[in-house]
Amino acid sequence: MGNWSPWQGCRKISEGCKNCYIYTHDGKDGKNVGQVMKTKFFDLPVQRKKSGEYKLQSKDVIYTCFYSDFFIEEADEWRKEAWSFIKNRPDLRFLFLTKRIHRFPNCIPADWNDGYDNVVIGVSVENQIMANKRLSLLMQYPIKHKGIVCQPLIGPINLNAYLEDVEFVTVGGEQGPYGRSCDYDWVMNIRHQCIEAKVPFTFRQTGTNFLKDGIHYKIARKDQSKQAKKADIDVHTEQVKEDL
Ligand code: SF4
Repeated sequence: MGNWSPWQGCRKISEGCKNCYIYTHDGKDGKNVGQVMKTKFFDLPVQRKKSGEYKLQSKDVIYTCFYSDFFIEEADEWRKEAWSFIKNRPDLRFLFLTKRIHRFPNCIPADWNDGYDNVVIGVSVENQIMANKRLSLLMQYPIKHKGIVCQPLIGPINLNAYLEDVEFVTVGGEQGPYGRSCDYDWVMNIRHQCIEAKVPFTFRQTGTNFLKDGIHYKIARKDQSKQAKKADIDVHTEQVKEDL
């Protein structure tokens, strides 16, 4: 696993951004998180070590732009070059998440055609309104590898209309001291939809405030992923294939 932040900083765009981790994490250091800036790692995918090897190794999935949104307007002038780095590294798989999928047609490179093989785009949705809005667009756009990230999950979501051609669904509650409640029933409903549609499903973490069978649990950050794992409800690619 590798990380690449070509730029950092973001602007809130919907309810799911309310307690965004870059505001709670970076903002507390007095950084102006709302200012989008190119980073010194901008060309990391093509940077090499003294030995001549690439710094980012081939086996890695590269978590891209996790401190911003790859499609944010402020990065329009830098994105073309960022795409050229991605194109230069077909041996890496670049995964980015976006809440700005509506900008996709304005943000792709000229030779995108039906998508780059090495790019995975996950659309982030927090409730049904955003799912309807963003996923109806995701379905229409030519992207080779698509995913849906329901995190922070702050309401029930029906994904049934949007699961075709989707390679993964990830679900998680909201982290941080002000995290809104996540209900286990919502998680299980999405899992059921994924099983029906034969889409791999991952329950990433519970979030801070978790509801199960009507009981409220406050879960420490260090235990949120552990508790989700313990639930043992992930549906893996192999299981989905076996069922086909
Ligand atoms: S789009 Fe993502 S990174 Fe940007 S403010 Fe919202 S949650 Fe944070």
